[in-house]
Amino acid sequence: MVQSSVLGFPRMGVLRDLKKANEAYWADKISQQDLLAEAKRLRLAHWKIQQDAGVDIIPSNDFAFYDHVLDHIQLFNAVPERYTSQKLSPLDEYFAMGRGHQKGGVDVPALEMVKWFDSNYHYVKPTLQDNQTFSLAKDPKPVREFLEAKEAGIQTRPVLVGPVSFLALGKADRGSSVNPITLLDKLVPVYVELLKALKAAGAESVQIDEPVLVFDLSPEVKAAFKPAYEAIAAQGSAVPSVVVATYFGDIVHNFDILPAFAKAQGLHVDLVRNPEQLEPVLKQLGANQILSAGVVDGRNIWKNDFKKSLDLLQTAIKALGPERVIVATSSSLLHTPHTLASEKKLPADVYEWFSFASEKVKEVAILAKAVTSAGSVNAELEANAAAMKARAESTRTNDPKVKERQSQVTEAQHNRKTEFDNRYAQQKKHLSLPLFPTTTIGSFPQTSEIRVQRNKFTKGEIDEQQYDDFIKKEIDYAIQIQDELGLDVYVHGEPERNDMVQYFGERLQGYVFTTHAWVQSYGSRCVRPPIIVGDISRPVPMTVKESKYAASVSKKPMKGMLTGPVTCLRWSFPRVDVHQSVQCQQLALALRDEVVDLEKNGIFVIQVDEPALREGLPLRKGSERDAYLKWAVNSFKLATAGVEDSTQIHSHFCYSEFQDFFHAIAALDADVLSIENSKSDAKLLKVFIDEAYPRHIGPGVYDIHSPRVPAEAEFKQRIQEMLEYLRPEQLWINPDCGLKTRKWDEVKGALTHMVNAAKYFREQY
Ligand code: GLN
Ligand code: ZN
Repeated sequence: MVQSSVLGFPRMGVLRDLKKANEAYWADKISQQDLLAEAKRLRLAHWKIQQDAGVDIIPSNDFAFYDHVLDHIQLFNAVPERYTSQKLSPLDEYFAMGRGHQKGGVDVPALEMVKWFDSNYHYVKPTLQDNQTFSLAKDPKPVREFLEAKEAGIQTRPVLVGPVSFLALGKADRGSSVNPITLLDKLVPVYVELLKALKAAGAESVQIDEPVLVFDLSPEVKAAFKPAYEAIAAQGSAVPSVVVATYFGDIVHNFDILPAFAKAQGLHVDLVRNPEQLEPVLKQLGANQILSAGVVDGRNIWKNDFKKSLDLLQTAIKALGPERVIVATSSSLLHTPHTLASEKKLPADVYEWFSFASEKVKEVAILAKAVTSAGSVNAELEANAAAMKARAESTRTNDPKVKERQSQVTEAQHNRKTEFDNRYAQQKKHLSLPLFPTTTIGSFPQTSEIRVQRNKFTKGEIDEQQYDDFIKKEIDYAIQIQDELGLDVYVHGEPERNDMVQYFGERLQGYVFTTHAWVQSYGSRCVRPPIIVGDISRPVPMTVKESKYAASVSKKPMKGMLTGPVTCLRWSFPRVDVHQSVQCQQLALALRDEVVDLEKNGIFVIQVDEPALREGLPLRKGSERDAYLKWAVNSFKLATAGVEDSTQIHSHFCYSEFQDFFHAIAALDADVLSIENSKSDAKLLKVFIDEAYPRHIGPGVYDIHSPRVPAEAEFKQRIQEMLEYLRPEQLWINPDCGLKTRKWDEVKGALTHMVNAAKYFREQY
C-alpha cells in the first residue's frame, strides 16, 4: 500500500481567521485565552480536512501563530536576553520577537525577518550569542500539538526544522561574532530530548526539514549533518524514525552528505522543481530507506498533472517497491491558498484548472490510491486528464497573435538608440534638469479617503465619471504639493492604484483574480497574487490617462510609473505550462507598448519598477542563475528601449545589495536607478565606482518605512556620505521607496528638508 503525505498545511484558515484573531489579540480586543482557542479550532479543522481527504501521513507542529522558525527559537530557549528580561508571557515574548513590542513600558524591536528561500514567505532569523545555550522549553509545542491531534483521534507526524538548517539560517546577534553552525554540539542534545519526548507521547515518525540541503553549502555546514544525525540515530528506538525533508531545489550536488542520514527512515525530495533528480536520488537510498516523492506542487495553484506525477511515482515504485514510496506534496502547502471552494467569481472553465491546499491534499490521496490499486480511481484520473486537455487547448491559454509577436522580437529591440552619454545630454536639455535633481518614487499617501472612494466605485455606489473626477482632484493636490516643495521631476502620486501588480494585471489579457486566495507573507500579513493563466497582451493603454492628465497640469517634467515585467511575473502565480522567460517577455512587450504610448502623450521620464528582480535569483550560482539574469534583464530592456534618446528611463529597487549581480543591474541600461540606501551602509555604493558605473543613481536619502521626519542636517550628512562614492553629476536626491504608507504631514516635512539639502549642495558645486 503506497502511502500519501502532506508536509504542512496553510495556517490562516478559510477567511484568514488566524490573521484576524492575531490582530484582535494585538489590539487588546480578545484575550489570550480566546486566541489560543481559535488556534486550536484551526489546527483541528485543518487536520480534519486532511483526514477526510484520505491522507495517510498528516503533519502536526506545522501550525505557527507567526512563523515556524520563530517557534523553534522559543522551543530551544534561544530567545535573546532583551526579550526574556521583559518578563512577558511566553506568547507575548514570542510576538515581541516577531513584530516588536511597544506597550506597558516595554519597548523592544523585532528580530530580523528575511525571505524563506525563493518564496514570498518570510521567516524570523535565529539570532544567536557568543555564549549561546539551548534547552528544551517547558511543555514543548511539538509534543503539545501532537497530543492535541491524538486526543482528536488523529495520528500525526510532527514537523521540525532540522538542527543544521536552524543554525545555518541563523546569524550572530549584534555585538556577537559567533558562527552559528559552531553551536551544533550544544543544540543536538536538545533535539534528542525533544525527539524522546515525542516518542514517549506516541509519535512513530517525524519529518525533519533540512531545506538548506538545496543550497551550495560551506564545508562547515556540510560537515555538521553527520554528527547531528548520528547522535539522533544512536538513540535507536528511544526516538521516532526520521524522514529528512528537502524542497525548493535539488540535492544532487550535496550527495556527499547523504551518508549522514544512513539510519534515517527516508528522504523527501522536491520532484516538482527538479524531477530529474529522481533517478540519481533512487540510486543513493539505502537498502531499506523510503522515498517521499514530492509530486504535488506546494508553491503554486495549478491542478496536478496526474499523468506526469504517475510517471515519476511508477519509476520510483519500480526501483523501490510500493512499501518504500510515499506520495507527497513537494513542500509544505503554506505557500498556497486555503481552498478553491471559496472562489465564486472565477470563470467556470478556469476554475477547473486550479487546486488550492484543500484540493491538493485530495490529490496526494488519489495519486497514492492510483499507484496502489490500478483502476481504483479511474473516474478521478479521467477528469484530471480532461482538465489538462481543456487548459492546453483553451483560447485563454493560447493567443496566436502574442506568439506571432514574440517570434518577431529582434535583438535590436532590446537596445536604446545610442549610449548613455549622448542620451543624457539630450535629456538634460529636454527636461532642464539641475544638478542633484530631486524626485520621489511614485506613490503619495494612500489616504483613507482614497480607499473609501475606490471601494464605492468597486461597489457601484459612484460611477466612473465621479471616480475619475476624484482621482483628478487627488492628482491636482499631489502636483500642488510638489510645486510648493520645489521638486524637479514630478509624479502623479498613484492614487488610482490598489497594488502595484494587481493594477496592471487587471488591465492585461491573460490574468485572472481571486477573491479569497490569500497566502501568508509574514506574521499576519497575507498577499493575494493574481494568476497568469494565458498569453499576455495589453488591449488598451493602462496608465496613459492619469499620467497625461498630470503632465497637462504640471509645470515640471512628469514621470510615468510602471511595474516592470519581472516584478509583475514574480508577484503573480505564474503559469507552469510555459517557461517563465516566455511569460516575462509577453509582459515586457505589453509594457513596451505602454512606455511608447506614454512618450507619445508627452511623458518624457518613465520609471519601470523592478523591486522583485533580486528575489527571482535562483538559489544556487551557476547556469540556472545566469540564464535567469539573461532573460530577466532582456525583458526589462525590451520593455523600455522603445523610446527616443531624449526620453529618460528610470528604474527602482527596494534594496542596495547589488554586489553579487552588479553586471545585471548595469546591463539594464536604465538612465537613472533609484535604490534603497537610507538604512544600509553608504559603503555599498562603492561598487558603483569600482565598476565605473556611468549612469545616474538616486540612493534613497531617507527611510520611508518610519513616520519619523529627519532633520535637514541628516539629509546633508547622508548626501555628503554618498558623494564619497558617487560623482556629483550622477547623484539624484529622492526617498528610498514610494510614500503610500505615510501621512501627508510626514511627507511634506521630510521632502521640505530633502529639497533644501539638495539646494544646499547645488550651491556648493
Ligand atoms: N512606484 C511604487 C511606489 O511608489 C514603487 C513601490 C515599490 O518599490 N515597492 O509605491
Ligand atoms: Zn521600493
